[in-house]
Amino acid sequence: MATSEYEVVIVGGGAAGVAAARHLHDAGVPSLLVEARGRLGGRAWTIQHNDHALDLGCGWLHSADRNPWVAIAERQGHAIDRTPAPWSRPSLPNGFPLGEQNEFRGAMSAFFERVSTAAAGPDRAAAELLEPGCRWNGLIRAVNTYISGAELEDISVHDLENYTDTDANWRVVEGYGTTVVTHGAGVPLALDCPVNSIDHSGTRLKIKTGQGTLAADRVIVTVPGTLLAEDTIAFTPALPEKIEAARGLPLGLADKLFLSLDRPEEFEPGSRLFGRTDRGATATYHLCPFGRPMIEVYVGGDNARALEAEGETSFLAFAVAELTGLLGSSFAKRVTPVAMHAWGADPFARGSYSSALPGQAGCRARLAAPVDDRLFFAGEACSPHDFSTAHGALLTGVAAADAIIAARGI
Ligand SMILES: Cc1cc2nc3c(=O)[nH]c(=O)nc-3n(C[C@H](O)[C@H](O)[C@H](O)COP(=O)(O)OP(=O)(O)OC[C@H]3O[C@@H](n4cnc5c(N)ncnc54)[C@H](O)[C@@H]3O)c2cc1C
Repeated sequence: MATSEYEVVIVGGGAAGVAAARHLHDAGVPSLLVEARGRLGGRAWTIQHNDHALDLGCGWLHSADRNPWVAIAERQGHAIDRTPAPWSRPSLPNGFPLGEQNEFRGAMSAFFERVSTAAAGPDRAAAELLEPGCRWNGLIRAVNTYISGAELEDISVHDLENYTDTDANWRVVEGYGTTVVTHGAGVPLALDCPVNSIDHSGTRLKIKTGQGTLAADRVIVTVPGTLLAEDTIAFTPALPEKIEAARGLPLGLADKLFLSLDRPEEFEPGSRLFGRTDRGATATYHLCPFGRPMIEVYVGGDNARALEAEGETSFLAFAVAELTGLLGSSFAKRVTPVAMHAWGADPFARGSYSSALPGQAGCRARLAAPVDDRLFFAGEACSPHDFSTAHGALLTGVAAADAIIAARGI
């Protein structure tokens, strides 16, 4: 770091931090983006495999018709794929005949209607709204682990109801992670620079990092709530209300495993399979995404946690066991692992996306509230309605930057 004095320091270079830094830099505010990893993007992370951009973190531009990343990606010259998402179309019939799919869709809609009705009353766990004995409870549980990363027992009905989505789901062909990283091009930046403590007791804030101490008038903290809850950044004076709010919004777990696939022409591009329809511990399989000879395996909740505990090879064994159960034992020879990332074990994420524990939906506003108009908080967990997403993260980062710009009177 050439200098240690800034007007604003942004801690964490994921979607929220990059968006905040871009906004401040473009407005001419002297600022520095400080990121613990050796790369930008955080939970937005695209890797290359055989000319294919694979998103190990966020992949879908949810609420795409109002998602600011769409215009940003287009300005960057990236291609937007508007093919309807696999979950908006029937799955393949293997192990799940179309008639059963219709029954499941009905049961899932009824579950979400009960959530909406219950949200008008006192908060409680979403699991209480499963219909006892319903044949589809296992699959409803599984799909909710993909949506929230958590089990229904740990999900607040109020929080689930607060999430808004327009049902438009698109993708960036070159990768969502690529888009987030490219958005940070040219902003003053320190990589491999973990922040250890923030002292906000004096007239200027002191930010202790692995590369020295910085001074700033204002700081935007965008690290995942799990890390705040674990006290990995020491605040002076302490901020017990922030730690408590972060503890109410744990990051659930969702992990992806990419497999290469021999003879992909057997499958319709972008089609989908569920491993099982009778239990929550099952993966969903996106076949030939973008027409590529690949399978994207998605695992969530307790199932992902158990597999992470067993080690990364267990994801492959689990996926192969489910796929051969559906497609025959010879199918095992047609898939080869290409890439995966265990987000729960990632020291700078410790999970995939946030959901509020029952009774804790108010934690999002408490986490987002600035302290003394000098210490700002942003990141997906701070978003009132777009939490758990990369566009929600962007919106909170831009809002924090706007609040700072307004306060300094530009
Ligand atoms: C498998 C998976 C699939 C997903 N799918 C989707 C999807 O399809 N669509 C969607 O919209 N969202 C999806 N998400 C969620 C989305 O990726 C996140 O909500 C979003 O990227 C979070 O951005 P953020 O800036 O809030 O946090 P992060 O991206 O976590 O950024 C925080 C940054 O802080 C850094 N950091 C941590 N500690 C320190 C420290 N002490 N000092 C400095 N820096 C630090 C981290 O390294 C990180 O770069 C998915 C996530 C995962 C894991």
